[in-house]
Amino acid sequence: MTQLHGKKALVTGAAQGIGRAAAIRLAQAGAQVIATDVNDEKLAELTNTPNILTARLDVLSQTDIDVLVANHGTIDVLFNCAGIVHNGTLLECSESDLDFAYQLNVRSQYQLIKAVLPGMLAQQDGSIINMASVASSIKGVPNRFAYSVTKAAVIGLTKSVAADYITQGIRCNAICPGTVDSPSLQDRLRAQGDYQAARAAFVGRQPMGRIGTPEEVAELVLYLAGATFTSGHTHTIDGGWTA
Ligand code: NAD
Repeated sequence: MTQLHGKKALVTGAAQGIGRAAAIRLAQAGAQVIATDVNDEKLAELTNTPNILTARLDVLSQTDIDVLVANHGTIDVLFNCAGIVHNGTLLECSESDLDFAYQLNVRSQYQLIKAVLPGMLAQQDGSIINMASVASSIKGVPNRFAYSVTKAAVIGLTKSVAADYITQGIRCNAICPGTVDSPSLQDRLRAQGDYQAARAAFVGRQPMGRIGTPEEVAELVLYLAGATFTSGHTHTIDGGWTA
């Protein structure tokens, strides 16, 4: 089983959902985890968890990123998890929605990698895990235009970083979940008006007859945090949806 004693892991979007489950799982495996988010209230629920230190980090702020990395020194594992889902087709997507999706889902990952990479390169070791989605270059999903554009960009970003630094001890991989039962998914289901019908539609497209849990994705994050022979890959975890 992957052990991460002596490793420092930075997780963004860690207040809830997959980021939170991953922060807890990495900490259980022995890593010193810096769990970050903009949701101070939810983040505070992690305060007394062993091996977890919480810190406010708005991934849209270069200043926040620079201060956090300067305060915590070399990061061994970066999990870029913070992200947003925009619903809608191309014709329904405003330029500002597209710009915002790019800022939060892609540019923030670039900025975080830029901040931690020098430390990783100095020690010739580091694992970067970027949150993408099967709604990307993997699968066309209706009503996910801005989301899919930006998550496809995450895959390109991941492969590019992996190729540039593969000889210097850096692994960079993308996680591509299908539908995962997180607080924001619950919000999206409620927003459709008929929660049960919306949930049934999501479950109905799953060959396994259920959607995934944040804890299942967290196991993949843990694996990639410790993995030494995979880089530049998309790791799909979707209950067989795209199989
Ligand atoms: P979520 O959407 O419920 O939570 C996202 C977290 O990101 C929240 O705690 C939020 O406060 C934080 N966040 C938002 N803006 C931020 C900012 N500017 N700075 C720092 N933190 C910020 O969690 P989730 O559904 O588990 O999604 C996590 C990631 O997984 C996202 O990138 C999402 O696109 C991706 N994903 C989710 C699913 C799914 O079905 N839930 C599927 C595929 C990919």
